[in-house]
Amino acid sequence: MCKVELENRVSEIQEIKTKLEARLLQLEERAHEIDDELSEPGDDDWSESAVESENDEVLEKVGNMAVAEIQKIKAALKKIDSGTYGICESCGEKIAPKRLEALHYTTICINCA
Ligand SMILES: [Zn+2]
Repeated sequence: MCKVELENRVSEIQEIKTKLEARLLQLEERAHEIDDELSEPGDDDWSESAVESENDEVLEKVGNMAVAEIQKIKAALKKIDSGTYGICESCGEKIAPKRLEALHYTTICINCA
């Protein structure tokens, strides 16, 4: 890899890192809100509380998804810090920048996916 190419890659990764950190903050805030919402006491009225528990289920799913994404983002950030970001975990090849751009926290290349 020539120097210019390497510098391009570093700034690309820096850009992705910034995006990941912003997304992480957003998700953490969201997970926190969901937590608050879920721990609110339900309504006494029967029909209201039926709706409420349905909402809770949806909220819980959204919350779980947020938590799963948070974990992926944290893993990706750790890789960026250790310099292994963008390397396929399966074959050790570089992951195409286009793929990384679309899937910021993917850990395998298109051939191994
Ligand atoms: Zn691979």
